[in-house]
Amino acid sequence: MIFLAAVHDLAVAAVVRACVVGLPGPTAALAAGWFVLCGLSITGGYHRLFAHRSYRAALPLRLFYLLFGAASFQNSALRWSADHRTHHRYTDRDEDPYDARRGFWWSHVGWVFFRTPEPDFRNVADLRADFWVRLQDRLYIPVGLLVGFALPALIAAGWGDALGGLLLAGFLRLALQYQATFSINSLAHRVGRQPYSTRTSARDSALAALITLGEGYHNFHHRFPADYRNGVRFYHFDPTKWWLWTMSLLGLARDLRRTPPEAILRARRSVEQAAPDPRYLARGQSSVRNGEAGSPSLL
Ligand SMILES: [Zn+2]
Ligand SMILES: [Zn+2]
Repeated sequence: MIFLAAVHDLAVAAVVRACVVGLPGPTAALAAGWFVLCGLSITGGYHRLFAHRSYRAALPLRLFYLLFGAASFQNSALRWSADHRTHHRYTDRDEDPYDARRGFWWSHVGWVFFRTPEPDFRNVADLRADFWVRLQDRLYIPVGLLVGFALPALIAAGWGDALGGLLLAGFLRLALQYQATFSINSLAHRVGRQPYSTRTSARDSALAALITLGEGYHNFHHRFPADYRNGVRFYHFDPTKWWLWTMSLLGLARDLRRTPPEAILRARRSVEQAAPDPRYLARGQSSVRNGEAGSPSLL
């Protein structure tokens, strides 16, 4: 709790300092770059690779995720995945670490402070077999401090702005990343549509996708968690799926798992039949019959 408060206080200090002394272009670019690299390590690495095994990654990519994932200070990949698999298995139940039924603030950040610290490691036996994942679990804090704070300060020292690098690419970046990640557990379980399943509180929210590198299409994700995409249509803002697709072109990722279009179509049809969407009923036709769900994009 102290760490979380300090990060947010120093993030405010970073903004105030930038307003007073100015913001060098290279420092701003470094902070934005660090936000994207650390963010992708959580969305593409911790989430879609380690927690869900939605594709396979070569060692250099796995190491990148473990390094920059540690810099995101959301626990080690092993613990994060254990919690997340529990979330999917027990969504909206007492065992769910971020149980959305307990209110917005509980699912946003409250659970971080109050739930028991030890996750259930029985559901991550596959990850415990990975030497690098085990090593990162042991060295998570020093690696996080090094990659999350020391490295951006060192890089920014190259143009004489080490403090700016530390504050902006370190603390402000981390505070924004926290709020983005937290919003998946809160916002994406409260705001948005439920085109694929109404069995959980998970929702598709373009707004949440915008601030989380594509993780906001949470209704689709809860219905099809093994799919490497969260935004299944080509126009869905899901930079993480674009990143993974690019990594596959470079030979660093393979076996990207896609849900068969028929399964997506069936899911949409069952939701619409149970509770027809009034927007489509007004037109006298169902979106499914229009083929809207029948042609998900390649990405
Ligand atoms: Zn969820
Ligand atoms: Zn998930």
